[in-house]
Amino acid sequence: MPIALNRFLRLETLLDGLVPAPGEDEAKASSPRPLRDRRPLDDRALARNWEILRRHTTLDEQDEACLADVETRASIGAYRKNIENCVGTLKLPVGVAGPLRVEGLFARGEYYVPLATTEAALVASYHRGSRLITAAGGCRAMLCDNAVSRAPGFAFRTLNEARAFVQWASQNFDNFRAQASTKTRHGELVDMRITVEGNHVYLNMDYYTGEAAGQNMVTLATKAIVEWIEVHSPVPPAHVFVEANLSGDKKATFLSFTSVRGKKVTAEVELSKELVRKYLHVEPEKMYKLWLMVTMGGLMSGCVGSQAHCANGLAALYLATGQDAACVSESSAGLLRMELEDNGALYTALTLPNIIVGAVGGGTRLPTQSIGLKMLQLPRQGAAFALAEVCAALCLAGELSIMGALAADHFAAAHERLAR
Ligand code: NAP
Repeated sequence: MPIALNRFLRLETLLDGLVPAPGEDEAKASSPRPLRDRRPLDDRALARNWEILRRHTTLDEQDEACLADVETRASIGAYRKNIENCVGTLKLPVGVAGPLRVEGLFARGEYYVPLATTEAALVASYHRGSRLITAAGGCRAMLCDNAVSRAPGFAFRTLNEARAFVQWASQNFDNFRAQASTKTRHGELVDMRITVEGNHVYLNMDYYTGEAAGQNMVTLATKAIVEWIEVHSPVPPAHVFVEANLSGDKKATFLSFTSVRGKKVTAEVELSKELVRKYLHVEPEKMYKLWLMVTMGGLMSGCVGSQAHCANGLAALYLATGQDAACVSESSAGLLRMELEDNGALYTALTLPNIIVGAVGGGTRLPTQSIGLKMLQLPRQGAAFALAEVCAALCLAGELSIMGALAADHFAAAHERLAR
């Protein structure tokens, strides 16, 4: 990795005097006590963790009362399965974008979308895009694919052993399914993809996960399969790993557009010239020209897909509804397309192949996150699919709004007005 000389020298200057001389560290060290993961999580465990923090940091009773406030203490049991070494809850401001009209396969109607963020201008931007889409009669949205993968890895001594294993594994899919079903009622192994690299074999186990996002579910089910393989495989693997990093879990990967991680959704909207002018204060032609340029920019920067800021809306919605916020890393890989129609209207489509969301499990039942989910009024059946379509619609709204702000040259001014 090359070193940029000026930046390196600047860093050296900054560090001057900050880095302790050898031996200086030990003299200062006060041996702080580690927090211990005490179970069950209750008021006493919380108090003990704070005792340690107060003794070894500058945090005081007021800080404790703020993080471990009365409501948090009263409902502490609700967080039992979501956190270790708990010291309280964090408050994030929540805004609402919408109503956002979606004509999807599962999401049908107008949605108030909760967004938790500390970034000014974010909710305003998604709200503007939502109003525009709703004024156009809504966007169409479609769930195109659905599966969550775990990719156990099997290391053999030779390629011949790997080949024999692949032959055997490909004949045992039904046994793998049966093993998976011992660990989950709603999860179902539906497919398997095999990848061979030298004497290594990766088995991508693809699951339907019902109304759950499914990452835990697929891990537990795959663990059962792997254990069965270790006992029954005619060729014993030298090493077995329950996940060998070919599932795309928590990364934007090249797999994004050739397979699916979670839910693949696409959304489209057609906006008349008048609506673009009224809501975005710009001509559709300029939006199209900007789209061409940002797509080339995305291509040159090497991003997976090309879109403007899907991570913004997804992170805020995931936080507000108890989804795993770290999955924004794969979920925000997307492809934005704009076209000018013969009548001057602007056609816009957004495809997101890795939306990892659930209506049950994870953080969805937590006291405030469950309210965010309730605000969406999702259907009982297919709630997770509907939520994925809402994600696509929301991101489409956000793309239109930010592209409008850039095309009309309002981007910096909006941030200056709302954030400074
Ligand atoms: P989960 O809360 O572990 O599991 C979902 C639970 O809901 C299961 O017990 C399932 O029972 C139950 N359930 C009840 N009704 C259901 C329905 N209609 N459809 C589906 N499930 C239903 O959540 P998860 O979605 O599997 O995993 C999400 C969590 O995993 C997130 O918190 C995320 O942070 C974390 N995560 C884990 C890993 C990992 O590798 N372990 C990786 C990344 C993220 P049955 O299983 O019996 O059906």
